[in-house]
Amino acid sequence: MARFPRPTTPRLLYNVFSPSKTTPSHSSSPSPTTALLLGNFHLQLRQFSAGGNLARAKEGKEPWWKDSMERLRNIGISAHIDSGKTTLTERILYYTGRIHEIHEVRGRDGVGAKMDSMDLEREKGITIQSAATYCTWNGYQINIIDTPGHVDFTIEVERALRVLDGAILVLCSVGGVQSQSITVDRQMRRYEVPRLAFINKLDRMGADPWKVLSQARSKLRHHCAAVQVPIGLEDDFHGLVDLVQMKAYYFHGSSGEKVVTAEMPADMEAFVAEKRRELIETVSDVDDELADAFLNDEPILSNDLEEAIRRATIARKFIPVFMGSAFKNKGVQPLLNGVLSYLPCPTEVSNYALDQMKDEEKVMLAGNPDGPLVALAFKLEEGRFGQLTYLRIYEGVIRKGDFIINVNTGKKIKVPRLVRMHSDEMEDIQEGHAGQIVAVFGVDCASGDTFTDGSVKYTMTSMNVPEPVMSLAVQPVSKDSGGQFSKALNRFQKEDPTFRVGLDAESGQTIISGMGELHLDIYVERIRREYKVDATVGKPRVNFRETVTNRAEFDYLHKKQSGGQGQYGRVCGYIEPLPPGSPTKFEFENLLVGQAIPSNFIPAIEKGFKEAANSGSLIGHPVENLRVVLTDGASHAVDSSELAFKLAAIYAFRQCYAAARPVILEPVMLVELKVPTEFQGSVAGDINKRKGVIVGNDQEGDDSVITAHVPLNNMFGYSTSLRSMTQGKGEFTMEYKEHLPVSQDVQMQLVNTYKASKGAE
Ligand code: GDP
Repeated sequence: MARFPRPTTPRLLYNVFSPSKTTPSHSSSPSPTTALLLGNFHLQLRQFSAGGNLARAKEGKEPWWKDSMERLRNIGISAHIDSGKTTLTERILYYTGRIHEIHEVRGRDGVGAKMDSMDLEREKGITIQSAATYCTWNGYQINIIDTPGHVDFTIEVERALRVLDGAILVLCSVGGVQSQSITVDRQMRRYEVPRLAFINKLDRMGADPWKVLSQARSKLRHHCAAVQVPIGLEDDFHGLVDLVQMKAYYFHGSSGEKVVTAEMPADMEAFVAEKRRELIETVSDVDDELADAFLNDEPILSNDLEEAIRRATIARKFIPVFMGSAFKNKGVQPLLNGVLSYLPCPTEVSNYALDQMKDEEKVMLAGNPDGPLVALAFKLEEGRFGQLTYLRIYEGVIRKGDFIINVNTGKKIKVPRLVRMHSDEMEDIQEGHAGQIVAVFGVDCASGDTFTDGSVKYTMTSMNVPEPVMSLAVQPVSKDSGGQFSKALNRFQKEDPTFRVGLDAESGQTIISGMGELHLDIYVERIRREYKVDATVGKPRVNFRETVTNRAEFDYLHKKQSGGQGQYGRVCGYIEPLPPGSPTKFEFENLLVGQAIPSNFIPAIEKGFKEAANSGSLIGHPVENLRVVLTDGASHAVDSSELAFKLAAIYAFRQCYAAARPVILEPVMLVELKVPTEFQGSVAGDINKRKGVIVGNDQEGDDSVITAHVPLNNMFGYSTSLRSMTQGKGEFTMEYKEHLPVSQDVQMQLVNTYKASKGAE
């Protein structure tokens, strides 16, 4: 499995779902006959067959870390809000001994759920922050990376998904596959995360796991099958039959902590046989080894089936479906066993880094603890003891006291303290190795930074951060919340390099900029929700730019004589476009010979041109790809000053700008649409109307996948129009591609609007 380095641009994704038909549910009354009490319930963990480790082990060359690597899982739990993710996480922490009692999720007992480390989350009972916590189960270490419960497309969420090797998708057996489930699942697919599904809340009235399973097939396009069958449903739900081991499990004790294994209820045999056959058939579709046995009518042994499920799940060709009720303490331990049996260990997932010495060339990382250190800071938290930074180690070892290099800033840092996190509690450790997730204290960095031991210059994410394409004025309603407001903005900037904060020089308003309408909406919502600051927002504006297309000469004398010291400065030269592909956006060159202008005034001249280029005279947007060359000038022994030359430069730029034939550039987005083929014509027609250029059109089953380049300025409110054009069945993603010149008529329109607004001031 190859994973690509994630784009630095958050891709904005919008979707809607279509309803599907339901299938009848199954319910049965069991009577456990031979109940066997197992203190340490164990689903017979088999040896690993996947990955290169076993091969090495067979050759007798086992590396020192082989065992701990195979016994490591980094997983996320992803779900639609309210489907029970927090409750499930709580139960996992309880059964794995990380917490000693079960708290009410909604926090009525004043303690709240463990994973919700922020007070606000406790109060609301939903998980906003991503945090990492670890626990052990049957000798395996499981790191649970808590992906945010709300779905957005900020870089922060993308990073949390990136460090996962596998995930559990929680679905509600009553609500089924809802639009948000589709979105979280799509994210995981995009990040190539192998996953298990857990159909929760089987105890609730109206629970129908088979309907949910068929929705997973139709709406999520999962190639999936149940690996368990519930014994009873709703009020009567009290156990599960495991289709791999062909055993029944019941959950006794006040918190379901005693798992009792029994023969399956006799009246369920026919149904279980049917479901087991369905499981084998579905896995056989994607696993040749199992298909051979199945087609030859050979008996399928539990171990063979389990291995086939593991191979297919890790290859992301199959999703095993588990069932239970987190709230009623049923089905959580078998799910944990499923995590060990079916989800990959870190070396079974490949990742690559970007070599900064070789123009961001991709380098495969073997996940080897003996290799040079490569670790990604994927999450920052402000804690009681300062900044806590979560690191995923991809290669090598990190030890307390080590010197490590932040590749993004070039800074060398000593690791003062290394800990393993359990929500808001921690445990000091001496070292961590590839595959593990650790946290460090007192290391100043931004999230997304990569650390190495200095022997390589790799980064896990691209260092080329795109310029924001859209801006929005935002202001706190009450003056008292100014402090919280700036705190929020500071934090978001640290977490997300594509999110910027600036001041509008004219209006004095705070301007936030980002990669699109949705990206900015998310931050406004987070200011409100996480920092409790109500803010007024202006209309979103596209970040146009200006550039010149011709060379134009300037010769400007700035002279003022009004009492006191006068001002005198003359600058001559030309401006021209930078050659295509130039690494900088502004270049200043001094070709003066002799002392026409004393050299101490040159920086002021450069500053003047830079300042002037901040606001082009077409529509007041920054001018890019500009080269300014100074060839001559004049000065006065008494009246010349830095100010005089700076002003001369500003006026000189304005003087020659029009002659350089300026044009307006607009952000053009790469838009990918997926619509049922019947709507393809109207959707494509609409893209043309929006001045988009269609560059690809493929068929995927019953859907058409259209790729187009469309000016961002024509994409406002697109999700609403796509929904109405496709009866809610279309979806699209959008990401920034490049800035391109607008057409003549658009340029005229924009210039006229700008002039009118200037006139009105
Ligand atoms: P999250 O938003 O996905 O984290 O969901 P929560 O864990 O906060 O659960 C949402 C609500 O569903 C809470 O009131 C839980 O008590 C309830 N809940 C969670 N799991 C179950 C379950 O298995 N059965 C029932 N009946 N309720 C559940």
